[in-house]
Amino acid sequence: MISKNLNKTKILKKYSVSLLDRYLQMWKIITCNLLFLFITVYSTSTDDSSSTIYRTGKDKSTGTVYSTGKDKSTGKDKSTGKDNSTMEFFHHNYEAMYKYLQTIHSKCPDITRIYSIGKTNENRELYVMEMSDNPGEHELLEPNFKYIGNMHGNEVLGRELLLYLLDYMCDEYNKGNKEITNLVDNTRIHIMPSMNPDGYEIAREGDCTSVLGRANGKYVDLNRNFPDQYVPGSDLNEQPETKDIIAWLTQFQFVLSANLHGGSLVANYPFDDNKAMVEVYSKSADDDVFVKLAKTYSFNHPEMYKGESTCGDKFKDGITNGAKWYCVSGGMQDYNYLRANTMEITVELDCCKYPDHSLLEKFWKEHKTSLLEYMKMVHIGVKGVVKYPNGTGIPNVKINFDKRYPFQTGPYGEYFRLLLPGEHKVYIEYGKNKLRTDVKVPKHGTTIMNFIVDGDTITSSYARHMNEVELAEKKSVFSNTDIESKDTNTASSDTNSAATKKRHTGRSDNLAAAAVIVTIGCIVCVLAGIVLYRKVKELRAVDKGYSYDKIETEKFISEEP
Ligand SMILES: [Zn+2]
Repeated sequence: MISKNLNKTKILKKYSVSLLDRYLQMWKIITCNLLFLFITVYSTSTDDSSSTIYRTGKDKSTGTVYSTGKDKSTGKDKSTGKDNSTMEFFHHNYEAMYKYLQTIHSKCPDITRIYSIGKTNENRELYVMEMSDNPGEHELLEPNFKYIGNMHGNEVLGRELLLYLLDYMCDEYNKGNKEITNLVDNTRIHIMPSMNPDGYEIAREGDCTSVLGRANGKYVDLNRNFPDQYVPGSDLNEQPETKDIIAWLTQFQFVLSANLHGGSLVANYPFDDNKAMVEVYSKSADDDVFVKLAKTYSFNHPEMYKGESTCGDKFKDGITNGAKWYCVSGGMQDYNYLRANTMEITVELDCCKYPDHSLLEKFWKEHKTSLLEYMKMVHIGVKGVVKYPNGTGIPNVKINFDKRYPFQTGPYGEYFRLLLPGEHKVYIEYGKNKLRTDVKVPKHGTTIMNFIVDGDTITSSYARHMNEVELAEKKSVFSNTDIESKDTNTASSDTNSAATKKRHTGRSDNLAAAAVIVTIGCIVCVLAGIVLYRKVKELRAVDKGYSYDKIETEKFISEEP
């Protein structure tokens, strides 16, 4: 017995007490950190609204308010919060606007490009910022999108909102926000904050209703200056700004666009006039799609969809057909649709045309979701390439869906057709060759359908819906394809809130896994600590000259009453 104890003492003596003390210290530090981690993980997983993840901006995409409506009434948006600290919430004149664009470009040089489409009467540039994964480069079947602001020089809100939108997307892209990254990587976004910088310079802050600065430098209303389908000769006195836009429309195959105005709160869609020039609904052949597009904007705004703006106008669902409201000939949106195959709507952003700068942040928060969701609509419907068997795209091929307005393929043989989910008939015509076929548009994602022209025949070479992976990706990113009118949109907000819910669930799953790992870590650490503590205690006792037996006996005696 004695020799056994001596052996144990010898072995224990091999380790110095100070070394084990150091281990004990280390154990304390590890335990403390684990405990901290444990508390953090659990508080995050149980508290959604004040979650650390929102505030650190690590996963902004989950914080985006879709059309769940929860934050709509207040216009409060969790995902903006601190990001706004770098945003310039003041009115930007010509110089300040260009400087702001440069600042954004310097923050995001890889995804942005500043270019000008021409000059105004007073020699100001019509600046555009392109935002995409490869700015300046054409990528097959990547759609072009555009926003134009400040066409009426005194309607300034669009100009500011578009600058904030660019700044926001740049920052979020840099942070790795999945929603923004996917949007930017899959779209060529062109943003022109001001189409009428000359008019802007004479408009005055706080002037909500007058027309000072509305027209361009030559006193021409630019939204009456485009060639019109019903009024021949309305393109007389075509202004440089108008000519530049028309040329721009031939340079890029824009698929979707919005023209941002002020003076009311409504999303307005084609047609803007009719033959009789009377205020009645003037339906286009793509009315269903235009209604959907307009509603996408209005229903993602906290007030617009209610249709009761303080400006005195009332619009059901916050949308209106242009001509039904009032007739405009020479408007830009009809020209976009009829002459450039670009689906464009006109959005009136607020009753006040030139609001006080103190209100800009509030307006940004209210319009942010609408601006983003509207952009995503460029990814609905059918797209594809009409090409020869060797793969070369064929431009100017007539392609029509149902009884809609016929579109033509662009310079690379591409076509993009924004359509609602369901079965659609396709008619394609090239020379004497014709083909009729059907195509199905899924609820989420885009259908890709290519056509091959080989001698006398046209074949739809490849019709498919996106595969599961692409679909899932589109679903999570481009989730806003289901906005119907408020009465019928229960299902849609369900879809959207389901998408939001899904994102939240995904996050909870990750947190749960983290919690389990941390818990196991804690248990292992505590056990290691107990063993370590006992060893140190033993060693100290041995150091003091006790043998093993004595330790045990001492303990036994001390525990006796
Ligand atoms: Zn206007």
